[in-house]
Amino acid sequence: MPEGPSVRKFQLLTTPFVGQVVTKVGGSSRKINVNDLNALRLQDSQVHGKNLYLAFVAAEGPVGPTLQREAASRASSPAQGGQEQVCARHTHLQEKELQELQDFRSEVPDAAEGLGNWLRFHFGLFGSIRANEFSRAKKANKRGDWKDPIPRLVLHFERGGFLVFYNCRMHWCSSPRADPASDVLSVEFHRGRALDALHAPNPVCYTLLDQRYFSGLGNIIKNEILYLAKIHPLTPGTLLALSDLERLLDCAVQFSSDWLRSKLHGEGLHPQIYKKEQCPLGHAVMKGTLGPSGGLKRLTWWCPQCQPAVLSKDGDPSPVTE
Ligand SMILES: [Zn+2]
Repeated sequence: MPEGPSVRKFQLLTTPFVGQVVTKVGGSSRKINVNDLNALRLQDSQVHGKNLYLAFVAAEGPVGPTLQREAASRASSPAQGGQEQVCARHTHLQEKELQELQDFRSEVPDAAEGLGNWLRFHFGLFGSIRANEFSRAKKANKRGDWKDPIPRLVLHFERGGFLVFYNCRMHWCSSPRADPASDVLSVEFHRGRALDALHAPNPVCYTLLDQRYFSGLGNIIKNEILYLAKIHPLTPGTLLALSDLERLLDCAVQFSSDWLRSKLHGEGLHPQIYKKEQCPLGHAVMKGTLGPSGGLKRLTWWCPQCQPAVLSKDGDPSPVTE
């Protein structure tokens, strides 16, 4: 799924539309009634971690009780178990897609929050936003058809522009779930809290994906910063010196900001370890599916030479499941 830097770029695409009224809607979403957005004014756009939030108000003025009641009635319709039928068309889910669904489940417990005038967007693996253009098929599907991606939501605005949202789940809520102290891309990011979280007996690669402490940090960033900091993904945080944890945090902040900057310049990411067979020094890279037992497991790449395993006191390296 798109990580923090990508969602920040999406948010920048929406900002020119803030203040404009929605004049026409479209899209395939079944989680919300897209027609409810007709004639509303886009009032605000915020990004928190991996989520984008758009605020809508009645076009005449600021949000009033009437709209909030309407939003409440919209949201109190059956919650469908909190899951949009993301892949209903696909009978065979690929492993990646399953992981995305697991991500959704781990991060979206909030059917009960469905009140209010903020629309929350959570993006899937190929989730994206386009401004004033539709996404086109880049290759034929398995049946040989050139089918363009189907937007979940299309918003046309009064000045003629439009926004298109792909592969995302939408959900009405009363306010953005904001915790800038956990967002590595926020100036309010709280290093002390992040250090405390990392300094736990858990393997650091589990803690880095914990959105309570590192919102917006995803699997690509995790792999890259562990390589940059030369830390084995399964190292228990308690076995690392404070200086190592500090360096890992520095890498997290620096890498995320650099990635955002290159995205804004239209440049791609050039990973050093993620999905690589060799590290930049030519060593063979290891790959494993790592995650807490009973929790989300993600494919992880590391270089056993650049990121040597740290043995615990009883000399037993943490197990690696393939
Ligand atoms: Zn290496």
